[in-house]
Amino acid sequence: MRKITGIILHCTATRPEFMDGQTTATKADEIRRWHVEGNGWSDIGYHYLVDRDGTVATGRPIDRTGAHVRGHNTGTIGISLLGGHGSAETDAFAEHFTDRQDTALRTLLADLQDRFGAVPITGHNDYAAKACPGFNVARWLDKGPTAAPAPEAVDAATEATVYRWRLAEIRDTADRALAGA
Ligand SMILES: [Zn+2]
Repeated sequence: MRKITGIILHCTATRPEFMDGQTTATKADEIRRWHVEGNGWSDIGYHYLVDRDGTVATGRPIDRTGAHVRGHNTGTIGISLLGGHGSAETDAFAEHFTDRQDTALRTLLADLQDRFGAVPITGHNDYAAKACPGFNVARWLDKGPTAAPAPEAVDAATEATVYRWRLAEIRDTADRALAGA
């Protein structure tokens, strides 16, 4: 087993109704297809997916390095929540994800910390100018799923967040185009 030094949270940026009625395993297969055929990776980038109903699916085996945060894949476990389309890093968890996801994710994180020690839990947006996972991970861990920043903090952050979100989208589109070229 590789040495685990951290856990990083993501979202799939899909709409709440994405592949409604399909099993979590089927959704994982679809995301794997994006990562393998779209990005040219060897496998799905994430190690776990947490579905809207709280079902957890495994992605890439955790003994293998993932592909989820540029420059921070070594030693980390990547977990992605289904949903988060249109989210911002200043949003509350509960604006984009379900109570069952909250419970399932906290359980999964507790299990992983039991296995690998009290490694830091962070979000993709702690490393890159991205909305992903669509909430502030430290605040969610500390204060729960409905915790959002104070209104004045949101006002100040909104314009920058929207701008960074659009830039990230443009960059992702360019990355995908280049990967397919
Ligand atoms: Zn991410």
